[in-house]
Amino acid sequence: MDYQAYIPGLSPVEPGPLARFMPPLEDGVISAWLPLHAPPGSWVLDPFGFSRRLALEAARAGYRVLVTVNNPITRFLLEMSAQPPSETDFKAALADISAVKKGEERLGAHLQSLYLTTCEKCGSEIYAESFLWRRGENAPYARVYTCPNCEDSGERVATPQDIEKAKRIAGTDNLHRSRALERVTALEDEDRVYAEEAIAHYLPRPLYFLTTIINRLDSLNLTPERRRALNALILVACDAGNTLWDHPSERPRPKQLNIPSQFREHNLWIQLERGLSQWTETGAGVRLDTWPNELPESGGICIFEGRLQDLPDEVKKQIPIKAVIGSLPRPNQAFWTLSALWAGWLWGREAVEPYKRALRRRRYDWAWNATALNAAFTHLFGLLHLGTPVFGLLSEPEPASLTSVLMAASAAGFDLGSLALRTQHDPIQLLWTSGEHLRRQPNEANVEEVREAIYSHLVERGEPASYLHVHAAGLIALVKSHALKQRDQEFDEALRGTHTLIQSALEDDPRFVHYSNGESVDTGLWGSNDLPARGAAHTCPGGRRQGSRHYDSLSDRVEIAVVTFLQKNPESIFLDVEQDIYPRFPGLLTPSRAMIYSVLASYAEKEGGEWKLRAEDVASVRRSELSNIAGLIDAIGRRLGYATRTRRQDRIYVWEQNGNVERTFYILASALIGRAISETPFPPEKTIIVIPGGRASLAAYKAQRDPSLAERMKRHQVVKYRLLRTLIELPVLTRETFEEQVAGDPLEKSKSQMMMF
Ligand SMILES: [Zn+2]
Repeated sequence: MDYQAYIPGLSPVEPGPLARFMPPLEDGVISAWLPLHAPPGSWVLDPFGFSRRLALEAARAGYRVLVTVNNPITRFLLEMSAQPPSETDFKAALADISAVKKGEERLGAHLQSLYLTTCEKCGSEIYAESFLWRRGENAPYARVYTCPNCEDSGERVATPQDIEKAKRIAGTDNLHRSRALERVTALEDEDRVYAEEAIAHYLPRPLYFLTTIINRLDSLNLTPERRRALNALILVACDAGNTLWDHPSERPRPKQLNIPSQFREHNLWIQLERGLSQWTETGAGVRLDTWPNELPESGGICIFEGRLQDLPDEVKKQIPIKAVIGSLPRPNQAFWTLSALWAGWLWGREAVEPYKRALRRRRYDWAWNATALNAAFTHLFGLLHLGTPVFGLLSEPEPASLTSVLMAASAAGFDLGSLALRTQHDPIQLLWTSGEHLRRQPNEANVEEVREAIYSHLVERGEPASYLHVHAAGLIALVKSHALKQRDQEFDEALRGTHTLIQSALEDDPRFVHYSNGESVDTGLWGSNDLPARGAAHTCPGGRRQGSRHYDSLSDRVEIAVVTFLQKNPESIFLDVEQDIYPRFPGLLTPSRAMIYSVLASYAEKEGGEWKLRAEDVASVRRSELSNIAGLIDAIGRRLGYATRTRRQDRIYVWEQNGNVERTFYILASALIGRAISETPFPPEKTIIVIPGGRASLAAYKAQRDPSLAERMKRHQVVKYRLLRTLIELPVLTRETFEEQVAGDPLEKSKSQMMMF
């Protein structure tokens, strides 16, 4: 396997409608990957249709993208993003629905009045932004507002009127609930009970709001474009209107239809208006058609409506698919069930019919996921020519989802070419090629192989790794030896077996150390207490012999690489740094952004988006500073009655008395404390490591993410240059004062929250 570099992208500023159910991907990744594997104008297949951003970006990069989409909501999102109605249509659609008569009132005013409440401070009638509820209660306990008159703002206790209003609306709930149900399933439909359960995730007020609008849709005489625009706005309100908005928000990306113990009921009128800005910001005219219509060579999106398994084999003859791209789907019972519901509300029962299974299926576990993915990969295999590259993005990765997808693809005949993993918060980038259709004889899984693969990864890393990283290293070993799944095994059995195997590889080996507060294997970090000594000959898994530098920890190596890059490329933007760094640390070694940021923040300043070394960190300045510090050590030593001598090319300074070593100093211009500790030949209690003040938070960051380094640092004293400058100024300096001062100069805590990974 040839590990590829992680392709960096940019997080979208406005992730767009229904973002909490969409895979969180970065922009710019697919358009960087595609040209390396297929020329623009080629046909590319997205077999999962899970992320509209992915298909759009590929189409904009000049590719003809065939997307199979089964979920009517995902399909609508894709169409809307490719060819959004104009802002004028959105505004007009909202104005039209607002102006419809409802008795004596206009509909807009009527719907807004559902959210009227009284300002606690000035007593004026204002619109609540949301109401807060506790599960199982029949009225809200609080409201959230910003008063336009007195600017009183925040969460306030619900008034008796708020409570009475909620109960009044609930009084007519049966009627609206059965209407909402009617649009999804017929009375005699055996799936009606499931639709009812799904609708239970709507409170009476939002359900009344939505059904009132939806019932007017057909009588409104809208142009097709305005109707599309209005549907898009209603869709945003449909999602805002359910109870899956926990308060305070701890699970912002729900996967299951569970009512949180406290949740937020949004003002849906405000949400309709917000929807307008969400949609108009997605806008891009991308050519759009449906299969089997052709697309021009300049690119576009061709939608195949249905499951991948329904895509006919003729595709292979008609259009040579040059590459496959896809956001690998993970089970989302909440989104899938709600999609069926929303499709019915927006387009009626016929639209739900092909997707109705989503209402029915209740339990999606990883075995289900692996089985479904395997069916898709198996069909995909038949559509591709030998050696076609498949680029998969696995967002929100976790050990089980990674096992599931690797097993599914491997069992379908795909060869894993690369796996690039940054952190558990970023999508894993996977590359397969469609292999030869020889059904390989699976091998018996071997725990020793897994153990050695994990050990090799920890050696290469030179510091502890997350469970996801070591799990991935183990999986890759199993993929290589075709031992992930035996032929007669079901996926659930194979998944269990694989997880047990990897966990016993970790637990039954004294070389591995678990840094964790919890008992469970998959928490915290895994490291090794048996890393080869620096300078020892070691052949790393790639077969290349590495110099001694290899045993610097990953974060130390990243520090060196980032600083070297900045010295050669002053005034670079963050993405430039990532693009240079990731190829140096491919696959499982991909450094986190927080790590790169920490190094940049320590050495450089940001001006208008560009990073530039600080004046004091330019190499020549640092060199003269190092000799100043050496001079200080010598001078302080003399005052305390020691003779100073140097070791190791002037990096180590030793205070001696009567030929005995009393104190030693290791001077650093960097935060390579791990290297300093392993290089110094003196006992820890005699060693003082001296670093520039500007490195203190980088050193603290490294200690925070690497418990083995933190332990070693505890046994050594680390002080800042500044301390030596202060000491030399003291009129009276004794050996006691010196020891006190050194002991009282702690490294500061790493400042930023995001520095954790
Ligand atoms: Zn007020």
